[in-house]
Amino acid sequence: MTDRGEIREGEVVVEAPPPTDAGLIFIGRIRTPWTSRGETPRQGSPDGPVCRLEIYEPWTRALQGLDRFAQAQVVYWLHLSRRDLVIQRGHGIDGPRGTFALRSPLRPNPIGISSVAVVGIEGATVLVRGLDCLDGTPLIDLKPDRCVHSMVK
Ligand code: SAM
Repeated sequence: MTDRGEIREGEVVVEAPPPTDAGLIFIGRIRTPWTSRGETPRQGSPDGPVCRLEIYEPWTRALQGLDRFAQAQVVYWLHLSRRDLVIQRGHGIDGPRGTFALRSPLRPNPIGISSVAVVGIEGATVLVRGLDCLDGTPLIDLKPDRCVHSMVK
């Protein structure tokens, strides 16, 4: 699919059922330098710019102890994605492929996951490197990386 949401040759759209309310709570928003999908990296990089996770109340107390970790996983809602593609053309791959065989943002539940470096915590804001989402992307969750023991600062 193109950046403007047009369907390309070989891509398949289905009639997606209406979303079920899973009761998600957005715990904050992500501030990044990117304002269009075209300029946003496909995947975050440890050399990428410092981005900000702004945590909303009443969740700021949940940051307690995060400063012990050098790496975290960020889970976010790719809110501008269409949700009805089953076959699509991913960037840098040879032909159309199933959505579940891609890390494309276009999926029935557009959840993005990135492993990031925790650069610092300033009050209710966590500074991280390694993101690949648009400025203003809603934040779903934040958790220490699985390799916590080797990652503790
Ligand atoms: N790292 C995550 C993952 O693997 O789950 C996301 C990868 S996804 C390929 C990243 C791309 O999603 C970006 O290059 C951009 O085109 C798109 N994107 C970023 N933020 C978005 C948003 N809020 N809504 C829709 N698309 C977004």
